[in-house]
Amino acid sequence: MSPSPSPIGGNAAAANMPGTRPRRVRAGVALMYHALANGGQVPAGQDPVYTLPLQRFEQQLDHLRADGGGGSAIDWLAGRNDARTLLSFDDGHLSNYTLAFPALVSRGMTADFFVNPVMVGKPGFADWSQLREMADAGMSIQSHGHDHVYFTGMSRQQLRASLVDSRQAISQRIGQPVTLLAPPGGRMPRGLLALARECGYAHVFSSRPGLVGDPGNGARIFPRLAMTQAVGMDGFVHWVKADASSLRREQLRYGGLALAKRLLGDQHYERLRGRLIATLRGTS
Ligand SMILES: [Zn+2]
Repeated sequence: MSPSPSPIGGNAAAANMPGTRPRRVRAGVALMYHALANGGQVPAGQDPVYTLPLQRFEQQLDHLRADGGGGSAIDWLAGRNDARTLLSFDDGHLSNYTLAFPALVSRGMTADFFVNPVMVGKPGFADWSQLREMADAGMSIQSHGHDHVYFTGMSRQQLRASLVDSRQAISQRIGQPVTLLAPPGGRMPRGLLALARECGYAHVFSSRPGLVGDPGNGARIFPRLAMTQAVGMDGFVHWVKADASSLRREQLRYGGLALAKRLLGDQHYERLRGRLIATLRGTS
């Protein structure tokens, strides 16, 4: 059992009172992973920017195991772990099952996996029996919307259907409650948290960088940090230490990208980004 991590900021007094160990410790940051790859080549159809080598992921888990702990938001919110770093995966890629799952289990760690029911079982994605196996071993399977269409491009009615249908589909197939929502592409229309609450979710996990801090009592939008190829071990260590200047840098970078997406529109932005990635890989 690792020692109880020291909370960040103002809750320190309460946390340190003798005999009053807090049920839920403040987490530092929440990390958002996508796919992993074992060996050099990134499999076709996988976004290289969001694909991390397995070895680097394992190195990161080993760092967390030695310093502050890492685990799922579901466990943290329920007071089942006091991890300083929350671990999550978006999109339900097959490597979540084949690579991330064993790496987590062998270290006694958990993570939240945000999946799209429409994509489950498609080539390159985990299927329902694999997700159930993960859930049975303590992982949490949560909603990334019914499909991967951005919420900002949906009518209110479509959005509500996506939230309700995905929640029902996942909880029925997995047999566990679905209470967390991570919007595809981090795109959050106005009023998303209130609508998510109406549809049975407790919290929303965004792609906006920041500190998680105190879980609080009400519904919240939690920030997450995108784990991309570009994040080296040094950057990772600064983030999980909740280093203020490296988090501020990431917020600025995110703000710049968000502005580009707004100015170009999602379709133009994705097309330009796709072309740039293809050029970098030498495939165009
Ligand atoms: Zn996604």
